[in-house]
Amino acid sequence: MVAQIIDGKLFSRKLRDQVAEHVNALKKENNVTPGLAVVLVGEDPASQVYVRSKGKQTIEAGMNSYEHRLSENTSEEDLLELVNRLNDDNEVHGILVQLPLPEHINEDAVINAIDPVKDVDGFHISNVGLLATGQNSMVPCTPLGCLLMLKDLHGSLSGMDAVIIGRSNIVGKPMAQLLLSESCTVTITHSKTKNLEEMVGRADIIIAAVGRPEMVKGDWIKPGATLIDVGINRVEGNDGGKRLVGDAEFSSCSEIAGAITPVPGGVGPMTIACLLVNTLVACCRKHKLAEPYIIPN
Ligand code: NAD
Repeated sequence: MVAQIIDGKLFSRKLRDQVAEHVNALKKENNVTPGLAVVLVGEDPASQVYVRSKGKQTIEAGMNSYEHRLSENTSEEDLLELVNRLNDDNEVHGILVQLPLPEHINEDAVINAIDPVKDVDGFHISNVGLLATGQNSMVPCTPLGCLLMLKDLHGSLSGMDAVIIGRSNIVGKPMAQLLLSESCTVTITHSKTKNLEEMVGRADIIIAAVGRPEMVKGDWIKPGATLIDVGINRVEGNDGGKRLVGDAEFSSCSEIAGAITPVPGGVGPMTIACLLVNTLVACCRKHKLAEPYIIPN
């Protein structure tokens, strides 16, 4: 193996420690405690796991955690009413509505009902617009985590060729905006892209956010490239049990890449750490206090 393994577990631990230090100082010096409200509708097992770990890590960082678990049958109207109450609640600095929502609820309507200043997922249309125009916004957590790891590894990303595989609103598109802001030359590829392998082969930075197990192979990538694997796919292992793999084939890619994130233990842990960063930022903005330096502009 030649690639440097980018340890997202360790990096996220450091990030969460930094957040906890800031929170401690806010409490002591300003008598303010950041609060994150997480809303879960329904019983989706994966969402329940995420919500539990978000709550646990919020409390570990010294913040207040407010969980709202609603039944699968909750109406859109009732959910919007809860969002409005959280918007008005001064103890709540960040609001996250866990996606996906049940089919009878319009996700866009709910996301856009969140006060943009409290939109710690960064999915509100105002934050999307602010990010696209290079203004101060809430940045979606997963791409923010990817960017922090890239900047930690390379320092400046200016002039690098970045290829993003996947154009979703939560990963691919905001990732492209962030890398553009860092002066990368950005190519977004997707399910209809022709010559995907050839494009990936030109990249200094590859972001794989597809949701297809081990799609990117070692012989696709340029020697020394940095590969950030966002994919989380549950597949059957040789022993018949389940195991997690990314969108890149780790065994072959780690022979060619210069640096690579593993799955699990790469991008995944960074996402919740960045949610805590965003909650802290939202709290500082609300109280007109200096923002922590961990957020790149
Ligand atoms: P999505 O399904 O919304 O988007 C997938 C994208 O991949 C689409 O834009 C599609 O055009 C593209 N695509 C599909 N097949 C392709 C192909 N053959 N070639 C090229 N592009 C193709 O998915 P998403 O929400 O962006 O998530 C992507 C992956 O990242 C999933 O595995 C998801 O579980 C994972 N994820 C991880 C985190 C994390 O915290 N680590 C967060 C979000 C998503």
